Amino acid sequence: MKKLFIIANWKSNKTIKEAEEWIRKFKEEFERESFDISSKEIIICPSFTVLKSFSDSIKSLNFFLKIGAQDISSFDQGAYTGEVNGLQIKESADYVIVGHSERRTNFNESSELISKKADMARRYGIVPIFCVQDETTPIPDKIAIVAYEPPSAIGTGKPDTPENAEEVAKKIKEENKAQFVLYGGSVTSENVKLFSAMQNIDGFLIGGASLDPSEFLQIIKNA
Ligand code: PEP
Repeated sequence: MKKLFIIANWKSNKTIKEAEEWIRKFKEEFERESFDISSKEIIICPSFTVLKSFSDSIKSLNFFLKIGAQDISSFDQGAYTGEVNGLQIKESADYVIVGHSERRTNFNESSELISKKADMARRYGIVPIFCVQDETTPIPDKIAIVAYEPPSAIGTGKPDTPENAEEVAKKIKEENKAQFVLYGGSVTSENVKLFSAMQNIDGFLIGGASLDPSEFLQIIKNA
């Protein structure tokens, strides 16, 4: 059975209290349903304000979830007001999303900047989840996990076709050293299996549907 990464991108949503409620419900439902997750790596990416408390809750519950950040500074620690650096992120997270189209578009992040962020992540032992918008987006060397996310599918309820996502994933693997290619864009518990059945799709980056613990659990179950 292939390994699947299932990653929740909460974007700019959830307070500490709401995140605690999410984990309480998710754990309760998971324990009720109790299915095999041994081939699945489940990673939650909350906002920076929630990262530490979320990671503490998971540790104290001894729960299997892993933590990722949604961004990382391209600078090391120092006089960079407002930035959160790799050393700080590593205190709570083992993964980080870089190159998401929302950051490329709303914050003018260039391929060069994104590549520096990925380097910074690796320097601190954080695994970058490198988002690309199609097979032509440049991917730096040493990126193991790529997330293919066509902007037209993000938050629109209009996912790519599994066949096209498979074709893009295959090309990405052929042309880069990426070991895993995930698909992201309007994934739900109803369509997830169509994508995970594809040979070159190794998991999912999930936005909207990950905010609801029950729906996220069903995605994991059905994937
Ligand atoms: C995302 O933002 O990474 C994403 C895939 O969003 P959604 O699942 O809401 O389309």
